[in-house]
Formats: sequence, structure tokens, C-alpha cells
Amino acid sequence: ALEIGHDLGAALLTARALERERGLVRQLQELDDYRSQLFATLSHELRTPLTVISGNLEIVGGLAIDDGAKVFLDAMGRGAERMQKVVDDLMLLARVTHPRHPLTRISVDLREVAEDVVTLLDSTAISKGLTLDVHLDDGPLLVLGDPAEIDQLLANLVSNAVKYTPSGGTVTLSVRRRDDDVEVRVADDGLGIAEEDQARIFRAFYRTENPEALSEPGTGLGLAIVATVVERHGGRVEVDSHLGQGSIFTVTLPGA
Ligand code: ADP
Repeated sequence: ALEIGHDLGAALLTARALERERGLVRQLQELDDYRSQLFATLSHELRTPLTVISGNLEIVGGLAIDDGAKVFLDAMGRGAERMQKVVDDLMLLARVTHPRHPLTRISVDLREVAEDVVTLLDSTAISKGLTLDVHLDDGPLLVLGDPAEIDQLLANLVSNAVKYTPSGGTVTLSVRRRDDDVEVRVADDGLGIAEEDQARIFRAFYRTENPEALSEPGTGLGLAIVATVVERHGGRVEVDSHLGQGSIFTVTLPGA
């Protein structure tokens, strides 16, 4: 009887611990839901007035006004543009982090995505005095997933490399097959990231305190989007970087 009592007691304790754990998981899920909802509502509410501001700025800019006033208008235009970028990134992050947002799973060729991203960023790289190199394995480089999300993933990594590499540097984008996976590697010989920052840069809104990096415009959301998209697609992302020498971001996605 003592034995049975003991077993029952232990079972009861386990049941209580499980119940507590379930409660915690539920609370975390609710928090996650709340955060996604907050991001979505905020970005949505900011979008409408921002469209009004940008639209009107454009109209006023088209009127015959003196050059002095144009300088202020241009500054306002740049401000609105930066805000637009924050809102767009926030909306995207809200969508991809939403716990019930389903993942589209269609065949995506990373060759095409890489080529599109390079076309998009090549002129920025050239005007900054950078070399943008591309290495793609022969044949299709297929993964299963959401084409828009994967596009954003590569664009964020390459645009960061371009942004945080001073003139004269080189950015290299490579896409290779590795066994059953496809590996995307974005390397630069730019500012680099201090060891203690390497885990934090994937958090939403985190920007390093490196003054050279901070002088570039940014929202601190790009890598949070990268990390979430990679996770949703069953992949992983790694960073290898040395301050003052450059960075390599490697994303591995399961091949289709
Ligand atoms: P953002 O670029 O908008 O600030 P991200 O989330 O894309 O936001 O990046 C977070 C931070 O990580 C950046 O502010 C920058 O300090 C650092 N970072 C990202 N990519 C690089 C890179 N290729 N080289 C150096 N620093 C980088």
C-alpha cells in the first residue's frame, strides 16, 4: 500500500508539473499572439497617414516653390521614406512571425532569386564603389517555400553586406548544393560584427553600437526577418564575423 501511495504521489506531482508547463506554454503563445497583433495593428495604422504625408509631399514638391523650401521638403521626403521602410519591415515581420500564418510551399529556384536580388542591388553596389560577385552552382537550386519570403531573405542579407561595406570592398553571394540542402552564403570584407553582438543582431530592432554601422540608415528588423523566415523553412543561419575584417552569413535550407 505504501508503494502504491508513493507511486500515486509521484504521478500527482508529475501531473501538476505538466499542468504548470502547459499553462506556461499557453501564456507564451498568448504573448506571441499579442506581439504579432501589436506589430500588425501598429504598422497598419501607421501606413495610412504615411501614404497621405508622402502623397502630399510629392504634390507640394511639384509646385513652383523656392529652392530654400525645397531643401526642407527633401528632408521631409527622406524622413517619410525611412518611416515607410520601418512600416514595411514591421508588417512583414508581423506576418512571418504570426503563429497561425501558414507557410506557402512551392518550388523556388534560388538561382532566379539570387539573380533578381543582384539585379536589384547591383547599381547601389556600383555607385558605392563595391564589387558584387556571384557564384551559382550549375542547374536549378530548388527549395520548397514562399518565394516572396525567400526573396526578402536574400535581399536583406545582400543589402546589409552592401550597406556595411565601405567603398572599394567586395560582396560575394554564392548559392551551392550541399548534400540534400541548398546553401546561401553572403560574404563581405566590410565593418564586421563584434563577437558579443553576433547573437543579438537577429533580435527585432537591435542595431550594433558601432558608429560606422549606425551612420547607415536601418530599422534593425532585417535580420529578425531573416531568422524567422529561415526557421519557418526548416533551415538555419550562421554568422562568422570579425570586427574590421568582414562578415559571412550562411543560410542552409532543405533542398526540394
Ligand atoms: P539594419 O541593417 O536595418 O540595422 P538588421 O537587422 O539587418 O538591421 O541588422 C542588425 C545590425 O547588424 C545592423 O544594424 C548592423 O550593425 C549589423 N549588421 C548586419 N549585417 C551586417 C554586415 N554584413 N556587416 C556588418 N554589420 C552588419
